[in-house]
Amino acid sequence: MRHPVVMGNWKLNGSKEMVSNLLKGLDAELKGVEGVDVAVAPPAMYLDLAEQLISKGESKIILGAQNVDVNASGAFTGDTSPEMLKDFGASHIIIGHSERREYHNESDEFVAKKFAFLKEHGLTPVLCIGESEAQNEAGETVAVCARQIDAVINTQGVEALEGAIIAYEPIWAIGTGKAATADDAQRIHAAIRAHIAEKSEDVAKKVVIQYGGSVKPENAQAYFAQPDIDGALVGGAALNAESFAAIAKAA
Ligand code: PEP
Repeated sequence: MRHPVVMGNWKLNGSKEMVSNLLKGLDAELKGVEGVDVAVAPPAMYLDLAEQLISKGESKIILGAQNVDVNASGAFTGDTSPEMLKDFGASHIIIGHSERREYHNESDEFVAKKFAFLKEHGLTPVLCIGESEAQNEAGETVAVCARQIDAVINTQGVEALEGAIIAYEPIWAIGTGKAATADDAQRIHAAIRAHIAEKSEDVAKKVVIQYGGSVKPENAQAYFAQPDIDGALVGGAALNAESFAAIAKAA
């Protein structure tokens, strides 16, 4: 059976004090919580501190990151390589977030390259997919998600999805408080899984598909009760230890 994964995307938020307080708070809140993998993705600048805090105690928190480059080293100002992320113990790496697709013009093909590079280095890609409001209203949701996943499948084979995580995040639900209903999210998750099953039923059965978009302690349970929703990628609510832990406990 699939194991749920709840991951916090801290985005461009943090300070040494905030990272320290949030991780200590999370550790306390998550004591004794079983049956769910909990990961956090701080800004790259704070991975060192986060790794120190996580490895110091008995923390079960998995360290992640928000982005990676497609180059291993060299003249690529401002970028971060997979080996650098590994050096600081980060294993679950978010790629293709809609904010990067929009503000950094990242194409499906470029995101697929990042996916391959992470796999090559033994890291877990957390591949974000999802439609805009206009695409949703035009009934294009499943086609958009399928196209984003196909960029990986068509270049690396469906088996590349094994061990990776897909995060379905309708763009109109991110940071807006306008979450998809659990029924609608389930319908899309099932369609995404069916699309993968056309290539491999085995991979489709195994791949973790998270929902993301205004997940809060109040609505988390409804998502996790759905058969095809395997956890969540959480933005705003991940910045508060109590809220994020409540979401993880609901999984
Ligand atoms: C996100 O940025 O991935 C996200 C889901 O944000 P929020 O939970 O704030 O909607």
